[in-house]
Amino acid sequence: MKTSNFRIVPLATEIAEAARRAAANGVPDHAVITVDSPRGYPCRHCLRWARPSERVILFSFAAIPPGRPYSESGPIFVHAEPCERYAATHEFPHDFRQGRVLRAYNSSYDMIDAEVVNGSEPEAVIEKLLENPETAFVHARSVTRGCYTMEIERR
Ligand SMILES: [Zn+2]
Repeated sequence: MKTSNFRIVPLATEIAEAARRAAANGVPDHAVITVDSPRGYPCRHCLRWARPSERVILFSFAAIPPGRPYSESGPIFVHAEPCERYAATHEFPHDFRQGRVLRAYNSSYDMIDAEVVNGSEPEAVIEKLLENPETAFVHARSVTRGCYTMEIERR
């Protein structure tokens, strides 16, 4: 098996824990939702689909920081209960091999390329985007809803 040239960067545990505390304190922009479908609620911390009847927190996350032309905040889910941060960082998460778009950014946070993972292996698309020396990092998002899924960096 070929060694991957990337590493997956799941949501930081501190951000997931802060969201859990905010939801527990009833902060209005942190909604607690009971999952009702097996493929609708991706947890950005463990990088798995939350299962029906599990609870998730819905809140806004700045995937691209403020003050930039491509600044972007949007809704993401994390499990409401503590979960283990995705650890197989040299492997693309199995649950999200379909239905993602991969966006390449340069070191100024400008989007410089993007490609839908559509019938191809996500690893091949990542490799292609990272071949460009200008690519500083890649973001995976939902191709349908546009929500941020995870960051991918060079190894
Ligand atoms: Zn989780």
